[in-house]
Amino acid sequence: MLDIRQIPVLSDNYVYLIREPASGAVGVVDPAVSEPILTEAKRLGWKITHILNTHHHGDHVGGNLEIQAATGCTIVGPSHDPDRIPGMAIQVTDGDIYTFGNEAAQVFFVPGHTRGHIAYWFKNASALFCGDTMFSIGCGRLFEGTPQQMWTSLSRLRALPAETRIFCAHEYTESNVRFAVTVDPGNAALRAYEAEVKDKRARNVPTVPSTLGLERTANPFLRADAPELQAAIAMTGRDPVDVFAEVRRRKDVF
Ligand code: ZN
Ligand code: FE
Repeated sequence: MLDIRQIPVLSDNYVYLIREPASGAVGVVDPAVSEPILTEAKRLGWKITHILNTHHHGDHVGGNLEIQAATGCTIVGPSHDPDRIPGMAIQVTDGDIYTFGNEAAQVFFVPGHTRGHIAYWFKNASALFCGDTMFSIGCGRLFEGTPQQMWTSLSRLRALPAETRIFCAHEYTESNVRFAVTVDPGNAALRAYEAEVKDKRARNVPTVPSTLGLERTANPFLRADAPELQAAIAMTGRDPVDVFAEVRRRKDVF
């Protein structure tokens, strides 16, 4: 069992506090900042034992050293990025099963947004912490990777069970949907979600987590091999990597 709390920080980041109650292990996933996280943990009576980082960007590791100084926690991150994760003590790599109290997280190496990005899949809890690789109806920008790498990364995450909850690191869904309908206009699942997202955001309700089942049907970055999307952007039958690259390019200039 994994108790997950979502903490909105900065303009649109989500930091997650996770607790495995049998052991008392408490992790912070991608602490952009320290103070609101320490405050919330204290309010909950949770003692932070770990930080789990997905990638090196400041809005994911910015709170690492201050939280570590305040709690003595152990920092876990990608072996693929040994020099850019402040305070990293435990390096994990693709295929590793990282034991967190009585729960286990499978590590996925998912380069594309950065060259060292990883994701943590808590299978029993149906929870994926994917940082800036996948967003609801979006994906991360390709700062350090290629379309081929990102398509491969997303394809691997896409293969997880439909009920998997997608705990991504940003509330970008509303603008992602505005773009998605321009490349996948006939997608009924996307249109239905568009209405749901508008309603939630109007009430300041998070759209995250979504589910992988929803993302598979409505996220254009997971649909580069879907005939309907390919037809809508006049790329029928093309290599999904090229289709993905074109959708990403259009989003970059949207
Ligand atoms: Zn990032
Ligand atoms: Fe980010």
